[in-house]
Amino acid sequence: DRGIDTGHQAQRLSLRSLNKSFGAVHVVKDLSIDVAPGEFLVLLGPSGCGKTTGLRIIAGLETADSGQVVLGDTDVTNILPKYRDVAMVFQSYALYPHKTVAENIDFPLKVRGVSKQERELAVRDAAAQVHMEDLLDRYPRQLSGGQRQRVALARAIVRRPSAFLMDEPLSNLDAKLRGFMRAELKRMQHQLGVTTVYVTHDQVEAMTLAHRVAIMDRGVLQQLGTPREVYDRPANLFVAGFMGSPPMNFLRGWIENNRFESHGVSLPVAAEKGIMTKDVVMGFRAEDADIVKPGAGLFDATVYAAEPTGDVTLVTLVVGKESLSVKMPRDYDIDFDKAVAVHFPLDRGFLFDAHSGVRLA
Ligand code: ATP
Repeated sequence: DRGIDTGHQAQRLSLRSLNKSFGAVHVVKDLSIDVAPGEFLVLLGPSGCGKTTGLRIIAGLETADSGQVVLGDTDVTNILPKYRDVAMVFQSYALYPHKTVAENIDFPLKVRGVSKQERELAVRDAAAQVHMEDLLDRYPRQLSGGQRQRVALARAIVRRPSAFLMDEPLSNLDAKLRGFMRAELKRMQHQLGVTTVYVTHDQVEAMTLAHRVAIMDRGVLQQLGTPREVYDRPANLFVAGFMGSPPMNFLRGWIENNRFESHGVSLPVAAEKGIMTKDVVMGFRAEDADIVKPGAGLFDATVYAAEPTGDVTLVTLVVGKESLSVKMPRDYDIDFDKAVAVHFPLDRGFLFDAHSGVRLA
């Protein structure tokens, strides 16, 4: 039920063992990802993890030291950017200030020598796709940030490329507009079905937009999976701590006689898990936990602060030297320094190797 015929069969995009160093810094390490035809893949990670470099290698704006980029049946590794059938959308919009909206959208077609009649139709189509059909005669300076980004998107759409490459396209927009454009992007992806690689450091964008998320840290792919998979079954401490707001709660401790022990905390660990590692980190999510009366939970804690956020109240607790978050209903009464206890279903807890970070259970 795709609304628009993109004129293109969606293409597979394969990154094969890509490596890139700048001087002594190895910023992309052996990166391999297969993006399915029509898939929306989000490259997610903190600043400096190598995601933009990865995207620029796909676009051909950066040359990999080794590895291949394959688009559809074509190895494009050594092909110039302009001959790769990809359209890039930048955070900065990169519009031509002296061209109107229509001329900006038209530009990629004009340089390709497409006929005037065909171009007019295509520009209208693309502009309508991003709800800019009434502003075709404006100049970029007469547009809001959100409208400028729409023009940048339309300019990518109009080319009907085999793949969209987007580098933090929403990060210059204010929070409200960002949320709105996120929904627009999702809708656009649904209608066009174009293979997309989208770079962001915003895990909410990743969760809401992606078919699959590729989480990177220091140049290394940490996990590749659906938003649900990486949230519910994080491969390691890095992924667990990066996905989710607030981040997953962690308690440092050790395993002894099939129990997780920490300062003031002692919880059973199913023997069949066969965990031999001594130093571990236990994790659980704020929304899986509950605050109960002292002695009635898994361990006691003290209320440090509580923040009503509107839909829920985020309560910060202290256990020993560690601080934990629990999401409570919005009418939760704030009582500083109150003695409480924390409860959560034990099967909602995670255990990680404290040294390697790998999830054990
Ligand atoms: P951000 O979200 O801040 O853009 P990123 O995850 O996209 O971060 P990259 O932009 O890919 O990360 O950068 C990865 C590392 O490579 C950084 O340490 C950066 O300083 C370095 N780097 C990027 N481009 C160059 C370059 N042209 N020359 C030297 N170092 C570079």
